[in-house]
Amino acid sequence: MEERLPGHYLKSKEMYSLPGLVEYKPYLRYMFSAGQAQSKFLEGLKQGRILGKRCPSCGRVYVPPRSYCEYCMRPTSDWVEVSGEGEVHTAVVSYISTFRERMEKPEIVAVIKLYAPGYTEKGYEFAGLFHKLCNVEPEDVESGRVIGMRVKPRWRPENERRGDINDIECFEPVGGD
Ligand SMILES: [Zn+2]
Repeated sequence: MEERLPGHYLKSKEMYSLPGLVEYKPYLRYMFSAGQAQSKFLEGLKQGRILGKRCPSCGRVYVPPRSYCEYCMRPTSDWVEVSGEGEVHTAVVSYISTFRERMEKPEIVAVIKLYAPGYTEKGYEFAGLFHKLCNVEPEDVESGRVIGMRVKPRWRPENERRGDINDIECFEPVGGD
């Protein structure tokens, strides 16, 4: 026998005929708590600083910071400031905006492997950020030239920073000014 949960099952016809049920656009205001580590990271961005946390056991630096090292399963301890310079680890030419709309002019998005002080690389584990690249052409991605390219953050003017990841407008090639 089919087990039914209590209540009334909506048929799709009802879904579309009930006024306001499907096309209703809620006006929602909400607050999001970023947590201790992320909050300090976001505050840092507002000041033009990129902060991470170091694991006392293996020395890995997490940017954005994490409270726990996922390799050692222990709390990270010291705060570390990184310069923001790094190398492009992977990149892709994207024709889809963050709002999932098709774009005529593509954006280049990349994982940037940040240089972290005292950090010894082990395999693919590194302090890395996902962000847009400026002054890089789609052909640079298609040809693979972009991989390993040295980049630095381009900051928004101080009075425009809001304490979010877009306080960094993009990453651009070092010496490409
Ligand atoms: Zn660790």
